[in-house]
Amino acid sequence: MVSPVLIRFEEVTLAYDGVPAVEHASLDVPAGAFVGVLGPNGSGKSTLLRGILGLLTPSRGRIFVGDLCCHELAKVRLEIGYVPQSSHVDPHFPARVLDVVLMGLYPGLGLLRRPGRPHRAKAMECLEAVGMADLARRPIGHLSGGQRQRVSIARALVRDPKILLLDEPYSGLDVQSQCSVMELIANTHEQRGLTTLMVTHDVNLVLPHLDLVLALNRRVFAYGPPNEALVKETLEAMYGAAIHVHEAHGRPFVIAGDTHGG
Ligand code: ADP
Ligand code: MG
Repeated sequence: MVSPVLIRFEEVTLAYDGVPAVEHASLDVPAGAFVGVLGPNGSGKSTLLRGILGLLTPSRGRIFVGDLCCHELAKVRLEIGYVPQSSHVDPHFPARVLDVVLMGLYPGLGLLRRPGRPHRAKAMECLEAVGMADLARRPIGHLSGGQRQRVSIARALVRDPKILLLDEPYSGLDVQSQCSVMELIANTHEQRGLTTLMVTHDVNLVLPHLDLVLALNRRVFAYGPPNEALVKETLEAMYGAAIHVHEAHGRPFVIAGDTHGG
């Protein structure tokens, strides 16, 4: 059975002050798909996610999320879990882990309402799901990068979203944390039946879990199942650099730069 389309881009251009960051992008994301978004720095990956969130309106074309389009997307934003590209956290930032997760509920709470017991229970449940319940009272600035990423994921899940958008969720983490965060994301996607788009520099780690790969450098260079999208010539055109695509264990493996003897 073919899943219905949940996110659709029709000839979309997203621009800042008239300068396009994404151009003529058309793609359909079926409900339940796990999509990896790949591309060099500045290629419009984060911009694409902002388009889905309705934070940036297309200057041309249309973005649909479910039945809603363009300026209506603010309405669905509450149904989308978003893990933004991680930024530096001040170690003295006066918030505890649980408070950070509760922040994920604020937009729907209204300005004057404070989170109550059911909200805290929900936030704790999400911390449990990412293996961080024990550290709920710890100041956020005292956590490791991997632990902070887990908290960001818990915050993104606190409204039970249908869609999860992750922007380079394991960049800057050590190899072991990268693997465990990746495993958490893959399990979360699977168990919650999410539609997931994940921006990443390192496609190899996520590849076994992906249904679709989007290769983006301002325009869409390839979009399809990993075996079709990850083609040497396409990736070289997109990155403007030498790329090798090897096959191991029946799936592609992407290596950037000149390699010898391979
Ligand atoms: P990526 O996430 O792939 O690194 P981005 O989507 O962040 O790329 O950026 C794509 C292009 O848009 C870049 O040229 C970047 O400089 C530009 N850009 C991103 N954010 C803004 C902004 N807020 N204002 C102006 N230009 C921006
Ligand atoms: Mg980015």
